[in-house]
Amino acid sequence: MTVQIDSGSTTCAPFRRPARWFVTAHTTRFDRVDGELVEVATSVAHAKEIGTDRTACGVRAWTWRKLMDVSFPPHAGMKCRACLAALAAPHRGSDT
Ligand SMILES: [Zn+2]
Repeated sequence: MTVQIDSGSTTCAPFRRPARWFVTAHTTRFDRVDGELVEVATSVAHAKEIGTDRTACGVRAWTWRKLMDVSFPPHAGMKCRACLAALAAPHRGSDT
């Protein structure tokens, strides 16, 4: 049996470094924003960082959708007040 591998040119989407605190939500949908199809939260958006299974407010979110290219807080939609407060604390919210 011969396996053929297509070695033609492929293009990959440009790599985007995930934000330290990105959006995670229980439910999402795809929506068109500025002509681009993007995933947006349809439930309350929480803040999450890579390497944890909980949101900034302490909710276990390992099965939730992770919008790693959307920084928290998102521009639109409902935002978790406890996550906003947690990131406003001096020891957590800084990206430096
Ligand atoms: Zn939260």
